[in-house]
Amino acid sequence: MSLPELREVDVSYGDLPALRGVSLTAAAGEILSVVGANGAGKTTLLRAISGLLRPQAGEILLEGARIHRLPSHAVVERGVMQVPEGRKIFPGLTVRENLDLGAYTPPARSRRRESLDRVRALFPVLAERAGQTAGTMSGGQQQMLAIGRALMACPRLLMLDEPSLGLAPMVVQEIFRIIAEINRAGTTVLLVEQNTRQALALAARSYVLENGQVVLAGSGRELSGNEHVKRAYLGMCVWRAAAAGEASGYDNAVETTMNRVRLASC
Ligand code: ATP
Repeated sequence: MSLPELREVDVSYGDLPALRGVSLTAAAGEILSVVGANGAGKTTLLRAISGLLRPQAGEILLEGARIHRLPSHAVVERGVMQVPEGRKIFPGLTVRENLDLGAYTPPARSRRRESLDRVRALFPVLAERAGQTAGTMSGGQQQMLAIGRALMACPRLLMLDEPSLGLAPMVVQEIFRIIAEINRAGTTVLLVEQNTRQALALAARSYVLENGQVVLAGSGRELSGNEHVKRAYLGMCVWRAAAAGEASGYDNAVETTMNRVRLASC
């Protein structure tokens, strides 16, 4: 059963098309990633699934049921939670207050205690800092809080919009490790990332989005070996140049920067 499935979805902002004929499927229980550069349509895709944007054409299904005409609160009630780009935590509230706000649907409220224990086990730092004002935490801790808050809603589908954005490589590793753990515990994950290398490594399957269209799909291994993906998203030509000169390191920060500028010379 798919969780979710998009069939030929078009989404526009006024006259500007942002998604064009997008079809994709995430099988229940898997990690699916969608990679692409700035403006490719990744956030639009998540917002359409969440019910925040209404497709002009096509269908979005969740376990076979059409959800693309439902309001966002009804989509949440069906078990879909989005962790937005930039985290969007409540900076003036404490960590605990932020987490409590995640459990706002009636079914999630009834499981609040159990969910809180799960979030504390996944993110011990959130337990240690329960009384701290959320806005005073580091970027990585705020990202953990945003994911923890989404888990408080007991999602069946967790959608993450660029969770690695602006974080140090070691923190990114930790966030990706935790995403894998969340998935192992049974939650389907739809991950949107510009950090292509990490996203391809983590997901069972991935889609490449360019100018609002799916241009490639496959396993991480298949896409990592694809020449277009290597040139456009993995910065392989820069890596080769670096390797040919002095042996220099290559890390997430470099990769993220390269993905953002999409070096024309590649
Ligand atoms: P980024 O990584 O920069 O967030 P993205 O892949 O998530 O990029 P989207 O944010 O989905 O891309 O944007 C897709 C296209 O839609 C872009 O051309 C963008 O400028 C446009 N767009 C996004 N939001 C709006 C909006 N609220 N109004 C008008 N155009 C928008």
